[in-house]
Amino acid sequence: MNKYFDLSVHQLVDFILRSGDIDDRYFNNSTMLEGIIMHQYVQSKQNETYESEVPVDGTINISNYIIRLHGRCDGVIKCEKKVIIDEIKSYIGDREKFINNNFSWHLAQAECYAYLYALKNKLDCIGIQLTYISQIDKNTTYKNFEYTFIDLKNKVESYLYEYLDFLKIIDDLKENRNQSLKELKFPFLKLRKGQKEMIEFVNKDIVNKEIGFIEAPTGIGKTVSCIYGSLLSFKDIQIDKIFYLTPKNNEFKLALSSLKLFNNSGVKITGIEILSKEKMCLSDKKKCNPENCVFARGYYDKIKKILKELLLNHLLFDEKIIKDIALKENVCPFELSLDLSNYVDYIICDYNYVFHPTAFLKRFFESPDKTYNIDLLVDEAHNLISRSRDMYSSFISNSLFSNMKKELKNIKNIDIKKNLKKLSSNFAMFKKIEFINSEEEEISELKLEKLDDEFVKNLRQMSDVYKKYSNDHPFQIYEKADEFFLESYKFLKIYDLLD
Ligand code: SF4
Repeated sequence: MNKYFDLSVHQLVDFILRSGDIDDRYFNNSTMLEGIIMHQYVQSKQNETYESEVPVDGTINISNYIIRLHGRCDGVIKCEKKVIIDEIKSYIGDREKFINNNFSWHLAQAECYAYLYALKNKLDCIGIQLTYISQIDKNTTYKNFEYTFIDLKNKVESYLYEYLDFLKIIDDLKENRNQSLKELKFPFLKLRKGQKEMIEFVNKDIVNKEIGFIEAPTGIGKTVSCIYGSLLSFKDIQIDKIFYLTPKNNEFKLALSSLKLFNNSGVKITGIEILSKEKMCLSDKKKCNPENCVFARGYYDKIKKILKELLLNHLLFDEKIIKDIALKENVCPFELSLDLSNYVDYIICDYNYVFHPTAFLKRFFESPDKTYNIDLLVDEAHNLISRSRDMYSSFISNSLFSNMKKELKNIKNIDIKKNLKKLSSNFAMFKKIEFINSEEEEISELKLEKLDDEFVKNLRQMSDVYKKYSNDHPFQIYEKADEFFLESYKFLKIYDLLD
């Protein structure tokens, strides 16, 4: 009997065609955010023949699978006699290098969308346009291609055949999990007082998609009860992932050992702990690019084989397993933990990865072509109030700015100099603000109703110029400037959210 499998275009092409290095000068939170803005910019410049954000899907029979492949194309251009699928990519740094390094990956994505669109609309031929736009100066380049329906069908099927091995591994994991959950039992002989109620409460809340709060004393076995309640829900409803969020590192271990308890009794649940980048990083320089970190070099060329092996041999992934394999294979352990998280049932991590405005896991919460069914178990949820306040606050101090300025002052780059000068005049103005309240008393802070637009514009421009400069000079390290621009990125993101 054929089995049904749900797959997004991104999941498919990211796995089989992404290659090369980790390089956060080109791919990072800030470029991803800027990428969304660039997409919207390109889309806003189109005429009525252009339809933006078009969902596409279709089923394809491969081996003994019926695969539902789906995604969302950036644009569909409907000319008089032709339909063209537009795929927009934005970049910083050298355009040709960016295109050459990522071309087959980008084209395959567009080919999948074009195939699904042509399939649904019964088209014999269709065009593809790859639109490359610079995040720095909006300079735009187009690459155009023509396909027959048969060409596209062959292409997409060849991608799916290449993915088939891996598809079987993840499908088996799900199948084994579901079978094993039929025998699910609480891992201790006796329930403590309150545990039964807690288990039922968690299960009911997840199944009914409700938000519930539990207040219980220490030592009654909250973690294992909550996990048991959530495991029961896998039997009742379709769940892609459960996030166990906790602010304490020792709770990560506790949650993972609770999962292990269930697995020791025959359950086959998969899970991972995601620690912070600093904690996972194995490089002294802490610079995520191939010039500065051996673990970044060729990451995407090596990762497919590693993921297959790991998923075939382990169910639970802790810090040690991940770091051991990262050291053995010379791949970044942090990125490996993120990539593994795509394929497991439980993700144990800090609140940041869900709630932080810049650090949340976009792959699950802002995925371009898949909506995940996710449930959250939030440990010590009362901490969320103060943590959210920190996450959604940002500051830029005069000392951060001065340190950055000192570090960059000898750079002979006209854009850096020009923008530094503009920003300096903003900071000079801030210095002149008298921190005095209506009672004529000196105060340490001042609440402004609105930030000066000119300052925000200058900060944005300076950040862009610095980004470009540091991309062009990968071996020059400016720690203070990096610190300033990292904070600026968060500052601007929060400013945009307020807007
Ligand atoms: S090992 Fe550290 S520096 Fe290297 S890519 Fe990973 S996080 Fe970045």
